[in-house]
Amino acid sequence: MLPEPVLLRAQAELLDWHGRGMSVMEMSHRSDDFGAVAAKAERDLRTLLAIPDFYRVLFLQGGALAQNAAVPLNLLREGGVADYIDTGHWAQKSIAEARRYGTVNVAGSAADGGYTSVPVPASWRRSPSASYLHITSNETIGGVEWFDLPDTGSTPLVADASSHLLSRPLDVARFGVIYAGAQKNIGPAGLTLVIVRDDLLGHAQRTCPSVLDYTVQAQAGSMYNTPPTFGIYLAGLTFEWLLGQGGLAAIERANVAKASALYGEIDRSGFYRNPVARSDRSRMNVPFFLRDPRLDAAFLAGANERGLMQLKGHRAAGGMRASIYNAMPQAGVTALIDWMREFERTHG
Ligand SMILES: *Cc1c(COP(=O)(O)O)cnc(C)c1O
Repeated sequence: MLPEPVLLRAQAELLDWHGRGMSVMEMSHRSDDFGAVAAKAERDLRTLLAIPDFYRVLFLQGGALAQNAAVPLNLLREGGVADYIDTGHWAQKSIAEARRYGTVNVAGSAADGGYTSVPVPASWRRSPSASYLHITSNETIGGVEWFDLPDTGSTPLVADASSHLLSRPLDVARFGVIYAGAQKNIGPAGLTLVIVRDDLLGHAQRTCPSVLDYTVQAQAGSMYNTPPTFGIYLAGLTFEWLLGQGGLAAIERANVAKASALYGEIDRSGFYRNPVARSDRSRMNVPFFLRDPRLDAAFLAGANERGLMQLKGHRAAGGMRASIYNAMPQAGVTALIDWMREFERTHG
């Protein structure tokens, strides 16, 4: 979900942005007005994440899956190898895509434990000369989140942060590249954020499509081709909203409170179950299971009746999953907990 004040503001400005008599959707991306919208969005994002000056911020299209190709196409040296950590569904997508463009070494994997934790770095087998090491910093389906970043030395750390970017402060300087589809925690589908360290520009493979080439897009201010203008505008409104909430430290406190209330309820009686190691439990995506999966349909139907939507687990995982992104208020989590208790009383 998106913050209601953001949607209301977009609604109020839909037909007439700042007295211009038109929507942001109708503006040329080359216009001064849109340029100001994009520049403010970038400024506010830099403020929120304290992005150092030696990183470029790119507003692109194609989603995180396009970035799964863009990362090797931009960073994987000729004849080189890239290290990947396999933490589940989305990591595997990244790995499969990277294999199309070069040699991939799966340096660490959580497969042994059924993808219920972040594999400990001591168990990894890294390539000595890897062009980069890729992690999926929040596994959206498995509900596994990285809280301790690995120390990769001089090897650039790359993260698919699609489902938790801006949920808490992040030390950007630890990364070579961070990318995220906006649609989980930031704005509408269609916008992809890329944060890339300057020294990683200029090494793209010859066959890298220009629209995915970080150097081309950085030099063009993300306007090598038409950027997703309305998505940038809405993301900008979300950035403003986050700053108004007190920034990422404040939203992290709210997210911790929501997640611990929900996990507390899941762990309380054994009627519900979450298999993820406690230290690696995602604050954004909380999968949970009933002992008897035949009750899932009744749980979900009752939830829908109470306005608790989109709780069905991913088809690859089954069960339930509560995605409690930034815009989900504590009251939404409380309503879910109330329903979980009622359901346990009547079906337990
Ligand atoms: C949702 C999601 C994706 C999907 O990427 P899109 O191309 O934006 O659809 C990729 N990675 C993660 C971690 C996700 O949560």
